[in-house]
Amino acid sequence: MRIFVWHFCRNNLPVRYKLRDKGVILPITCPMCNTDVEHLLHVFFDCCFAQSCWQHVGLNYDMSEVYSAPEWLLNKLQESAQDEILKICTTLHGIWFWRNKKIWGNKTTTGAIAMGNSFLHVKEWKDAKINNSGSEKQQHSDTNYNLQKWTPPEVGMYKVNVDASWFPGAETFSIGMVLRDSAGCFIEGRSLTLQDTEDVLEAESIGVREALSWVMSRTERKVIVETDSKSTADAINGQLEYVTKVGHSIDQCIHFLRLMPDVSVKHIRKQANRVAHGLARLPCMINCFNVFTFPPTHLVEICMLDVSFE
Ligand SMILES: [Zn+2]
Repeated sequence: MRIFVWHFCRNNLPVRYKLRDKGVILPITCPMCNTDVEHLLHVFFDCCFAQSCWQHVGLNYDMSEVYSAPEWLLNKLQESAQDEILKICTTLHGIWFWRNKKIWGNKTTTGAIAMGNSFLHVKEWKDAKINNSGSEKQQHSDTNYNLQKWTPPEVGMYKVNVDASWFPGAETFSIGMVLRDSAGCFIEGRSLTLQDTEDVLEAESIGVREALSWVMSRTERKVIVETDSKSTADAINGQLEYVTKVGHSIDQCIHFLRLMPDVSVKHIRKQANRVAHGLARLPCMINCFNVFTFPPTHLVEICMLDVSFE
């Protein structure tokens, strides 16, 4: 959601009015109501769907004098209490989520259901955060902790950790991947959502394929790609016969590995792959693709723990 808000504030969301401005040929009308041009103020405030969402969450803003939605949100972020900010951002994000569902999957819903899901999603995320901090403490006291810990590669080598994670609210898989050097320094991270993938093994193997394709486009040549999906690693390394459903992405992985002799794919435990999991769990709108040149706040701690000597 943070990334969504960032794009919103920078006026970067690809609403149709903006795409047309950039020369993309497509209908300019709002996909939700088909009655007006789809620009930011319309899709998030004037559209009948947006209005029913705001009504459902009990927020009512007079937008008649507002000419820039990003400016309006920036002011709100500065002026409003935390609770109201979370409510505003969740509502905007939910409206955008369903606008994308309509465009990409022709799915519609009511404002009440959309907002019910969005706020449930935020609650789950908050609960998971509380649970995670509890389980991390437990891991520290675990004597096996070091066995389950990520290890940096040898000097001159690099590691990419990759993971696929299911988003119950969005009904999609997200992929997270992080490239680090022998000092454990974060070089770059990527996250993306997958369309039409409901199978975990398929998502994991696409994740590894995306990671290898990413490595291919970069200059680092000695790279170990780590996945916590044993079946995926075994299938790529020829130790497991794979099912046809994932066959295509596994074949592509094997193809990439042939082109890059100093790159390998290895299986590691889930506990040692937390950095990629953390990036995959980052709330992400449908069809999103993010590049991180520095770690998002919640990954900094994981990156530091990964290279600590506890
Ligand atoms: Zn509309």
